[in-house]
Amino acid sequence: MSINKDNFPNTEGFFGEYGGKFVPETLMFALEELETTYAKLKDTDEFKKEFYADLSNFVGRPSPLYYAQRLTEHFKSANIWLKREDLNHTGAHKINNTVGQILLAKHMGKKRIIAETGAGQHGVATATVAARLGLECHIYMGAEDVKRQSLNVYRIKLLGAHVHPVDSGTATLKDALNEALRDWVTNVDDTYYIIGSVTGPHPYPMIVRDFNSVVGHELIDQSKKNFGRMPDAIVACVGGGSNAMGAFYPFIDIKETRLIGVEAGGNGIETGEHAAPLNDGEPGVLHGARSYLMQDDLGQVKDTKSVSAGLDYPGVGPEHSWLKDIGRAEYVAVNDQEALDAFHLVTELEGIMPALETAHAFAHLDALSTQMDESSNIIINVSGRGDKDINTVAEIDGIEF
Ligand SMILES: *Cc1c(COP(=O)(O)O)cnc(C)c1O
Repeated sequence: MSINKDNFPNTEGFFGEYGGKFVPETLMFALEELETTYAKLKDTDEFKKEFYADLSNFVGRPSPLYYAQRLTEHFKSANIWLKREDLNHTGAHKINNTVGQILLAKHMGKKRIIAETGAGQHGVATATVAARLGLECHIYMGAEDVKRQSLNVYRIKLLGAHVHPVDSGTATLKDALNEALRDWVTNVDDTYYIIGSVTGPHPYPMIVRDFNSVVGHELIDQSKKNFGRMPDAIVACVGGGSNAMGAFYPFIDIKETRLIGVEAGGNGIETGEHAAPLNDGEPGVLHGARSYLMQDDLGQVKDTKSVSAGLDYPGVGPEHSWLKDIGRAEYVAVNDQEALDAFHLVTELEGIMPALETAHAFAHLDALSTQMDESSNIIINVSGRGDKDINTVAEIDGIEF
Protein backbone atom coordinates (compact mmCIF):
# COMPACT_ATOMS: atom_id res chain seq x y z
CA MET A 1 0.00 0.00 0.00
CA SER A 2 1.27 3.44 -0.86
CA ILE A 3 0.52 6.17 1.66
CA ASN A 4 0.92 9.88 1.25
CA LYS A 5 1.72 11.05 4.75
CA ASP A 6 0.96 14.65 3.77
CA ASN A 7 -2.75 13.75 3.60
CA PHE A 8 -2.85 12.97 7.31
CA PRO A 9 -4.54 14.15 9.37
CA ASN A 10 -7.48 14.99 7.10
CA THR A 11 -9.30 18.32 7.48
CA GLU A 12 -11.36 16.91 10.38
CA GLY A 13 -8.19 15.90 12.18
CA PHE A 14 -8.40 12.17 11.55
CA PHE A 15 -5.63 9.68 10.86
CA GLY A 16 -7.81 6.92 9.45
CA GLU A 17 -10.32 6.29 12.23
CA TYR A 18 -8.17 7.91 14.93
CA GLY A 19 -7.86 11.46 16.21
CA GLY A 20 -10.60 14.03 15.79
CA LYS A 21 -11.92 16.69 18.15
CA PHE A 22 -14.08 15.30 20.94
CA VAL A 23 -14.37 18.44 23.06
CA PRO A 24 -17.03 20.71 24.56
CA GLU A 25 -18.48 23.45 22.36
CA THR A 26 -16.49 26.20 24.13
CA LEU A 27 -13.22 24.65 23.01
CA MET A 28 -14.24 24.14 19.39
CA PHE A 29 -13.72 27.81 18.66
CA ALA A 30 -10.30 27.86 20.36
CA LEU A 31 -9.16 24.78 18.45
CA GLU A 32 -10.29 26.28 15.17
CA GLU A 33 -8.51 29.53 15.98
CA LEU A 34 -5.34 27.57 16.66
CA GLU A 35 -5.72 25.54 13.49
CA THR A 36 -6.21 28.65 11.34
CA THR A 37 -3.29 30.49 12.92
CA TYR A 38 -1.00 27.50 12.49
CA ALA A 39 -2.03 26.95 8.86
CA LYS A 40 -1.40 30.61 8.12
CA LEU A 41 1.96 30.86 9.89
CA LYS A 42 3.74 27.55 9.49
CA ASP A 43 5.11 27.95 6.00
CA THR A 44 5.89 31.67 6.16
CA ASP A 45 9.54 32.66 6.01
CA GLU A 46 9.16 34.79 9.14
CA PHE A 47 7.82 31.93 11.28
CA LYS A 48 10.31 29.38 9.98
CA LYS A 49 13.16 31.82 10.58
CA GLU A 50 12.06 32.47 14.17
CA PHE A 51 11.52 28.77 14.92
CA TYR A 52 14.83 27.58 13.46
CA ALA A 53 16.76 30.43 15.09
CA ASP A 54 15.38 29.37 18.49
CA LEU A 55 16.11 25.70 17.82
CA SER A 56 19.66 26.60 16.99
CA ASN A 57 20.50 29.34 19.51
CA PHE A 58 18.32 28.41 22.48
CA VAL A 59 17.90 24.63 22.19
CA GLY A 60 21.35 23.92 20.71
CA ARG A 61 20.28 22.06 17.55
CA PRO A 62 21.16 20.14 15.49
CA SER A 63 21.70 17.34 18.01
CA PRO A 64 24.49 14.91 17.05
CA LEU A 65 24.08 11.44 15.60
CA TYR A 66 26.61 9.53 17.69
CA TYR A 67 28.19 6.15 16.92
CA ALA A 68 27.84 3.92 19.98
CA GLN A 69 30.93 1.82 19.51
CA ARG A 70 30.93 -0.19 22.74
CA LEU A 71 27.21 -0.88 22.54
CA THR A 72 27.72 -2.05 18.96
CA GLU A 73 30.55 -4.36 20.09
CA HIS A 74 28.38 -5.62 22.96
CA PHE A 75 25.53 -6.77 20.71
CA LYS A 76 27.84 -7.97 17.87
CA SER A 77 25.25 -7.17 15.25
CA ALA A 78 24.09 -3.90 13.64
CA ASN A 79 25.91 -0.58 14.00
CA ILE A 80 24.13 1.35 16.75
CA TRP A 81 23.73 5.11 16.40
CA LEU A 82 22.32 7.49 18.99
CA LYS A 83 20.28 10.58 18.17
CA ARG A 84 21.27 12.82 21.06
CA GLU A 85 18.08 14.65 22.05
CA ASP A 86 19.40 14.36 25.61
CA LEU A 87 21.85 17.13 24.74
CA ASN A 88 19.10 19.68 24.09
CA HIS A 89 18.60 22.56 26.53
CA THR A 90 16.53 21.20 29.48
CA GLY A 91 17.69 17.68 28.65
CA ALA A 92 15.02 16.16 26.39
CA HIS A 93 13.15 16.43 23.10
CA LYS A 94 10.22 18.24 24.74
CA ILE A 95 11.74 21.69 24.19
CA ASN A 96 11.44 21.30 20.37
CA ASN A 97 7.68 21.49 20.78
CA THR A 98 7.46 24.16 23.49
CA VAL A 99 9.75 26.51 21.55
CA GLY A 100 7.39 26.18 18.57
CA GLN A 101 4.11 26.46 20.46
CA ILE A 102 5.18 29.51 22.46
CA LEU A 103 5.76 31.25 19.11
CA LEU A 104 2.18 30.41 18.14
CA ALA A 105 0.99 31.86 21.48
CA LYS A 106 2.98 35.02 20.81
CA HIS A 107 1.52 35.45 17.33
CA MET A 108 -1.99 34.88 18.72
CA GLY A 109 -1.43 37.56 21.37
CA LYS A 110 -2.04 35.17 24.30
CA LYS A 111 -0.55 36.37 27.58
CA ARG A 112 -1.21 33.35 29.78
CA ILE A 113 0.31 29.89 29.23
CA ILE A 114 -0.95 26.63 30.73
CA ALA A 115 0.33 23.06 30.46
CA GLU A 116 -0.04 19.62 32.03
CA THR A 117 2.95 17.58 33.11
CA GLY A 118 3.62 14.07 34.38
CA ALA A 119 7.21 13.63 35.48
CA GLY A 120 7.66 17.37 35.18
CA GLN A 121 9.77 17.42 32.00
CA HIS A 122 7.10 19.10 29.89
CA GLY A 123 6.36 21.45 32.78
CA VAL A 124 10.02 22.46 32.88
CA ALA A 125 10.22 22.86 29.09
CA THR A 126 7.06 25.03 29.13
CA ALA A 127 8.10 27.14 32.12
CA THR A 128 11.46 27.67 30.40
CA VAL A 129 10.05 29.15 27.19
CA ALA A 130 7.42 31.16 29.13
CA ALA A 131 10.17 32.67 31.30
CA ARG A 132 12.09 33.64 28.21
CA LEU A 133 9.11 35.57 26.83
CA GLY A 134 7.98 36.88 30.22
CA LEU A 135 4.57 35.18 30.04
CA GLU A 136 2.44 34.09 33.01
CA CYS A 137 2.61 30.30 33.26
CA HIS A 138 0.52 27.69 35.11
CA ILE A 139 1.46 24.01 35.25
CA TYR A 140 -1.03 21.30 36.25
CA MET A 141 0.50 18.23 37.83
CA GLY A 142 -1.01 15.20 39.58
CA ALA A 143 -0.55 15.43 43.36
CA GLU A 144 1.17 12.01 43.32
CA ASP A 145 3.65 13.24 40.72
CA VAL A 146 4.22 16.47 42.70
CA LYS A 147 5.40 14.23 45.56
CA ARG A 148 7.50 11.91 43.36
CA GLN A 149 9.10 14.68 41.31
CA SER A 150 9.83 17.36 43.88
CA LEU A 151 13.01 18.49 42.15
CA ASN A 152 11.20 19.27 38.90
CA VAL A 153 8.42 21.01 40.85
CA TYR A 154 11.02 23.31 42.41
CA ARG A 155 12.70 23.79 39.04
CA ILE A 156 9.37 24.94 37.55
CA LYS A 157 8.86 27.37 40.44
CA LEU A 158 12.39 28.75 40.06
CA LEU A 159 11.45 29.54 36.46
CA GLY A 160 8.63 31.71 37.76
CA ALA A 161 5.70 29.42 36.94
CA HIS A 162 2.87 28.31 39.25
CA VAL A 163 2.40 24.60 39.98
CA HIS A 164 -1.17 23.39 40.63
CA PRO A 165 -1.34 19.92 42.23
CA VAL A 166 -4.35 17.88 41.00
CA ASP A 167 -6.02 15.53 43.51
CA SER A 168 -8.72 13.96 41.35
CA GLY A 169 -8.60 10.38 40.00
CA THR A 170 -5.24 8.71 40.46
CA ALA A 171 -3.63 12.17 40.84
CA THR A 172 -1.31 11.54 37.90
CA LEU A 173 -0.82 12.74 34.31
CA LYS A 174 -4.27 11.97 32.88
CA ASP A 175 -5.89 13.90 35.76
CA ALA A 176 -3.52 16.84 35.24
CA LEU A 177 -4.54 16.87 31.56
CA ASN A 178 -8.24 16.95 32.53
CA GLU A 179 -7.61 19.90 34.84
CA ALA A 180 -5.60 21.82 32.23
CA LEU A 181 -8.46 21.33 29.74
CA ARG A 182 -10.87 22.66 32.39
CA ASP A 183 -8.70 25.76 32.89
CA TRP A 184 -8.60 26.28 29.14
CA VAL A 185 -12.40 26.11 28.82
CA THR A 186 -12.69 28.83 31.50
CA ASN A 187 -9.92 31.15 30.32
CA VAL A 188 -9.84 30.50 26.62
CA ASP A 189 -9.74 34.19 25.60
CA ASP A 190 -6.30 35.07 26.96
CA THR A 191 -4.84 31.58 27.48
CA TYR A 192 -2.73 29.32 25.27
CA TYR A 193 -2.60 25.61 26.18
CA ILE A 194 0.75 23.96 25.30
CA ILE A 195 0.06 20.21 25.10
CA GLY A 196 3.20 18.15 25.68
CA SER A 197 2.77 15.18 23.36
CA VAL A 198 1.11 14.13 20.09
CA THR A 199 -2.13 13.63 22.03
CA GLY A 200 -5.30 15.64 22.64
CA PRO A 201 -7.77 17.02 20.09
CA HIS A 202 -6.87 18.13 16.56
CA PRO A 203 -4.77 20.14 15.68
CA TYR A 204 -2.43 19.31 18.61
CA PRO A 205 -1.22 15.87 17.44
CA MET A 206 -0.28 17.43 14.09
CA ILE A 207 1.37 20.53 15.55
CA VAL A 208 3.43 18.66 18.16
CA ARG A 209 4.50 16.14 15.48
CA ASP A 210 5.54 18.89 13.09
CA PHE A 211 7.66 20.72 15.66
CA ASN A 212 9.37 17.50 16.73
CA SER A 213 9.92 16.41 13.12
CA VAL A 214 13.10 18.46 13.07
CA VAL A 215 14.57 15.29 14.62
CA GLY A 216 13.65 13.06 11.68
CA HIS A 217 14.71 15.65 9.12
CA GLU A 218 18.13 15.93 10.74
CA LEU A 219 18.35 12.12 10.76
CA ILE A 220 17.88 11.90 6.99
CA ASP A 221 20.88 14.22 6.44
CA GLN A 222 22.96 12.66 9.20
CA SER A 223 22.33 9.10 7.97
CA LYS A 224 23.53 10.02 4.49
CA LYS A 225 26.61 11.69 5.90
CA ASN A 226 27.51 8.98 8.43
CA PHE A 227 26.73 5.74 6.63
CA GLY A 228 25.69 6.73 3.15
CA ARG A 229 22.10 5.49 3.18
CA MET A 230 18.91 5.38 5.19
CA PRO A 231 18.88 3.47 8.51
CA ASP A 232 17.46 -0.07 8.67
CA ALA A 233 15.54 0.79 11.83
CA ILE A 234 14.68 3.73 14.07
CA VAL A 235 13.74 2.82 17.63
CA ALA A 236 12.01 5.23 20.03
CA CYS A 237 10.09 4.92 23.28
CA VAL A 238 6.38 5.74 23.22
CA GLY A 239 4.45 7.43 26.01
CA GLY A 240 2.11 9.84 24.27
CA GLY A 241 4.44 9.35 21.33
CA SER A 242 5.99 12.74 20.51
CA ASN A 243 9.68 11.82 20.40
CA ALA A 244 8.85 8.74 18.33
CA MET A 245 6.55 10.66 15.98
CA GLY A 246 9.17 13.38 15.48
CA ALA A 247 11.77 10.80 14.49
CA PHE A 248 9.37 8.62 12.43
CA TYR A 249 7.36 11.18 10.48
CA PRO A 250 9.89 12.17 7.77
CA PHE A 251 10.60 8.43 7.27
CA ILE A 252 7.01 7.25 6.74
CA ASP A 253 7.49 7.02 2.99
CA ILE A 254 11.09 5.74 3.24
CA LYS A 255 10.13 2.06 3.12
CA GLU A 256 13.59 0.60 3.77
CA THR A 257 13.52 1.99 7.32
CA ARG A 258 11.65 0.00 9.98
CA LEU A 259 9.96 2.25 12.52
CA ILE A 260 9.76 0.66 15.96
CA GLY A 261 7.99 2.16 18.98
CA VAL A 262 8.65 0.71 22.43
CA GLU A 263 5.92 1.00 25.05
CA ALA A 264 6.19 0.61 28.81
CA GLY A 265 5.50 -3.02 29.72
CA GLY A 266 5.51 -2.30 33.48
CA ASN A 267 5.26 -5.61 35.35
CA GLY A 268 4.74 -7.44 32.04
CA ILE A 269 1.98 -7.23 29.41
CA GLU A 270 0.53 -10.54 30.63
CA THR A 271 -0.07 -9.08 34.13
CA GLY A 272 -2.22 -6.24 32.80
CA GLU A 273 -0.08 -3.89 34.92
CA HIS A 274 1.59 -1.75 32.28
CA ALA A 275 1.22 1.39 30.15
CA ALA A 276 1.15 -0.17 26.68
CA PRO A 277 -2.16 0.66 24.94
CA LEU A 278 -0.85 -0.21 21.45
CA ASN A 279 0.19 -3.67 22.65
CA ASP A 280 -2.77 -4.36 24.92
CA GLY A 281 -5.57 -1.81 24.49
CA GLU A 282 -8.71 -1.05 22.50
CA PRO A 283 -9.75 2.06 20.58
CA GLY A 284 -11.63 4.60 22.67
CA VAL A 285 -11.84 8.34 23.34
CA LEU A 286 -9.60 10.09 25.87
CA HIS A 287 -8.63 13.76 26.16
CA GLY A 288 -10.45 14.82 23.02
CA ALA A 289 -9.21 12.21 20.56
CA ARG A 290 -9.93 8.63 19.48
CA SER A 291 -6.96 6.30 19.84
CA TYR A 292 -5.85 3.03 21.40
CA LEU A 293 -6.53 3.19 25.09
CA MET A 294 -6.20 1.05 28.20
CA GLN A 295 -9.77 0.49 29.35
CA ASP A 296 -11.80 -2.14 31.18
CA ASP A 297 -14.88 -3.99 29.89
CA LEU A 298 -17.08 -1.02 30.86
CA GLY A 299 -14.91 1.45 28.94
CA GLN A 300 -13.43 2.92 32.13
CA VAL A 301 -9.80 4.06 31.79
CA LYS A 302 -7.53 1.59 33.57
CA ASP A 303 -4.71 2.47 35.97
CA THR A 304 -1.26 2.26 34.47
CA LYS A 305 2.04 0.97 35.79
CA SER A 306 5.54 1.92 34.72
CA VAL A 307 8.84 2.65 36.42
CA SER A 308 9.07 5.62 34.07
CA ALA A 309 6.76 8.54 34.88
CA GLY A 310 7.03 9.91 31.33
CA LEU A 311 5.55 6.71 29.84
CA ASP A 312 2.90 6.22 32.54
CA TYR A 313 -0.12 7.22 30.42
CA PRO A 314 -3.14 5.06 29.41
CA GLY A 315 -3.50 6.59 25.93
CA VAL A 316 -1.29 7.27 22.94
CA GLY A 317 -1.20 9.73 20.03
CA PRO A 318 -3.74 8.91 17.28
CA GLU A 319 -1.14 8.89 14.50
CA HIS A 320 0.61 5.94 16.17
CA SER A 321 -2.70 4.04 16.31
CA TRP A 322 -3.05 4.60 12.60
CA LEU A 323 0.57 3.62 11.81
CA LYS A 324 0.02 0.44 13.81
CA ASP A 325 -3.19 -0.50 11.98
CA ILE A 326 -1.74 0.10 8.50
CA GLY A 327 1.40 -1.80 9.49
CA ARG A 328 3.86 1.02 8.77
CA ALA A 329 5.25 1.05 12.31
CA GLU A 330 5.77 -1.80 14.77
CA TYR A 331 5.03 -1.48 18.47
CA VAL A 332 6.62 -3.67 21.11
CA ALA A 333 6.84 -3.44 24.90
CA VAL A 334 9.63 -4.03 27.40
CA ASN A 335 9.03 -4.39 31.14
CA ASP A 336 10.41 -2.32 34.01
CA GLN A 337 13.27 -4.69 34.78
CA GLU A 338 14.45 -4.82 31.16
CA ALA A 339 14.43 -1.03 31.01
CA LEU A 340 16.41 -0.76 34.24
CA ASP A 341 18.99 -3.26 32.97
CA ALA A 342 19.34 -1.23 29.77
CA PHE A 343 19.72 1.98 31.80
CA HIS A 344 22.75 0.48 33.58
CA LEU A 345 24.20 -1.11 30.44
CA VAL A 346 24.15 2.08 28.36
CA THR A 347 25.46 4.21 31.23
CA GLU A 348 28.39 1.84 31.82
CA LEU A 349 29.25 1.14 28.19
CA GLU A 350 28.79 4.57 26.65
CA GLY A 351 29.11 7.12 29.46
CA ILE A 352 25.65 8.32 28.51
CA MET A 353 22.94 8.07 31.15
CA PRO A 354 19.59 7.81 29.39
CA ALA A 355 16.23 8.77 30.87
CA LEU A 356 14.25 5.74 32.10
CA GLU A 357 11.82 6.46 29.24
CA THR A 358 14.66 6.21 26.73
CA ALA A 359 16.01 3.09 28.44
CA HIS A 360 12.90 1.29 27.12
CA ALA A 361 14.06 1.94 23.55
CA PHE A 362 17.54 0.62 24.37
CA ALA A 363 16.06 -2.48 26.01
CA HIS A 364 14.59 -3.54 22.67
CA LEU A 365 18.13 -3.96 21.27
CA ASP A 366 18.26 -7.44 22.82
CA ALA A 367 15.52 -8.65 20.49
CA LEU A 368 16.22 -6.39 17.52
CA SER A 369 19.92 -7.18 17.20
CA THR A 370 19.06 -10.84 16.55
CA GLN A 371 17.13 -9.71 13.44
CA MET A 372 20.02 -7.59 12.03
CA ASP A 373 23.61 -8.10 10.96
CA GLU A 374 26.87 -6.17 10.80
CA SER A 375 25.90 -4.35 7.62
CA SER A 376 22.79 -2.88 9.31
CA ASN A 377 22.39 0.49 10.98
CA ILE A 378 20.00 1.06 13.89
CA ILE A 379 19.22 4.51 15.27
CA ILE A 380 18.01 4.84 18.86
CA ASN A 381 16.28 8.12 19.58
CA VAL A 382 17.77 9.20 22.92
CA SER A 383 14.73 11.22 24.01
CA GLY A 384 16.28 12.54 27.21
CA ARG A 385 19.00 12.34 29.82
CA GLY A 386 18.69 10.33 32.99
CA ASP A 387 19.78 12.76 35.70
CA LYS A 388 16.13 13.22 36.75
CA ASP A 389 15.83 9.46 37.36
CA ILE A 390 18.85 8.92 39.59
CA ASN A 391 16.72 8.93 42.77
CA THR A 392 14.30 6.38 41.32
CA VAL A 393 17.11 4.08 40.24
CA ALA A 394 18.92 4.45 43.58
CA GLU A 395 15.75 3.54 45.48
CA ILE A 396 15.21 0.43 43.33
CA ASP A 397 18.85 -0.55 43.80
CA GLY A 398 18.39 -0.12 47.56
CA ILE A 399 20.87 2.72 47.92
CA GLU A 400 20.35 5.41 50.55
CA PHE A 401 22.09 8.76 50.62
C1 LIG B 1 8.10 12.97 28.23
C2 LIG B 1 9.18 12.07 27.81
C3 LIG B 1 8.95 10.92 27.04
C4 LIG B 1 7.57 10.44 26.65
O1 LIG B 1 6.84 11.32 25.85
P1 LIG B 1 6.63 11.06 24.31
O2 LIG B 1 5.59 12.07 23.94
O3 LIG B 1 6.15 9.65 24.13
O4 LIG B 1 7.91 11.29 23.63
C5 LIG B 1 10.03 10.17 26.62
N1 LIG B 1 11.28 10.49 26.98
C6 LIG B 1 11.55 11.58 27.74
C7 LIG B 1 12.97 11.87 28.10
C8 LIG B 1 10.51 12.41 28.18
O5 LIG B 1 10.80 13.48 28.94
